[in-house]
Amino acid sequence: MNTALIPVDYPQPGPHGAACDTRLAWARVPPDPSPAERAMLKDRIKHLLKARDAVMVSHFYVHPDLQDLAEETGGIVSDSLEMARFGRDHPAGTLVVSGVRFMGETAKMLSPDKRVLMPDLDATCSLDLGCPVAPFSAFCDAHPDRTVVVYANTSAAVKARADWVVTSSCALEIVAALHASGQKILWGPDRHLGDYVRRQTGADMVSWNGACIVHDEFQALELALLKGEHPGARVLVHPESPADVIALADAVGSTSAILQAAAHTDAAVFIVATDAGLLHKLRTLNPDKTFLAAPTAGNGATCKSCAHCPWMSMNGLAGVAVALESGSGEVHLDAALGQRARRPVDRMLAFTAGLRAGQAPGALVEGLGAV
Ligand code: SF4
Repeated sequence: MNTALIPVDYPQPGPHGAACDTRLAWARVPPDPSPAERAMLKDRIKHLLKARDAVMVSHFYVHPDLQDLAEETGGIVSDSLEMARFGRDHPAGTLVVSGVRFMGETAKMLSPDKRVLMPDLDATCSLDLGCPVAPFSAFCDAHPDRTVVVYANTSAAVKARADWVVTSSCALEIVAALHASGQKILWGPDRHLGDYVRRQTGADMVSWNGACIVHDEFQALELALLKGEHPGARVLVHPESPADVIALADAVGSTSAILQAAAHTDAAVFIVATDAGLLHKLRTLNPDKTFLAAPTAGNGATCKSCAHCPWMSMNGLAGVAVALESGSGEVHLDAALGQRARRPVDRMLAFTAGLRAGQAPGALVEGLGAV
């Protein structure tokens, strides 16, 4: 029998909360460079990447400058699953990770001998902030019969407490395989993604009560109204969004899945419920299609859609240049903690590689239990 989600109190980032709450994050968003400054910074970074044996690993939600430059210089712009894989497999001695803190930590745990730099080490994530390791561990201890599955958007300490790490690209497949093998799941920290996975797989899940401050804001009523204004539009939704928003979707999935759906769906207009940073890639890859941001606010609001992550916005060209030049923004991770946290990440990477190779999910789960 399925268990409904269990609400758990957790500290929300707020004006007087964590070291880099949203107010401080917005205050630290770098100003857009002028065209001349942009060209100068890009040239400087290109030179430094070569001189420092470095490669850029950027997330789809960061500034378009950092997405484009990563691709121009042989790096990658991707979701967190592919970022982890790319950083691990690339021969460069230094990885410049433009994204948020857990992405830098994951890169470091997968490549402990590489130097991992970030434009701003204080760029974090509400899911990570909302899932401190001590209460999460107590939650796990209270459910010793459950397999602990955590989202990638967590600290290394929380990953070290987990049996499996998943991203939104592979959460459904991994939880479905665990469920099929008879395992009950303890999920953390995103309640919307957890609930979506539970509905899709039928798995027996209890969940931590975290949320992404960006996706949590999408409004189903306003989305339905916008859809009404564009009758032929298709709605693409990231599963960190609330259930009533997901219910309006034509396609639900990770950033990579949204890109795939946009490319392969025969429609002229798309409404997109994920961080607005993805619109850059969507528009670049599909210049003949129109992409509208899903609404986060109703009539009378000054901003119709403010769907942009303050912490992702802290990444800028100047930060990359300074990090490469001075070595600032280096990610350090306790070696023993990194090793423990790496195990469930390795399981995820091995599982997804096995799936791509055509292996059966059930056999993969069984075989990877002892990674
Ligand atoms: S968009 Fe949401 S999930 Fe992604 S880093 Fe920002 S707060 Fe975290």
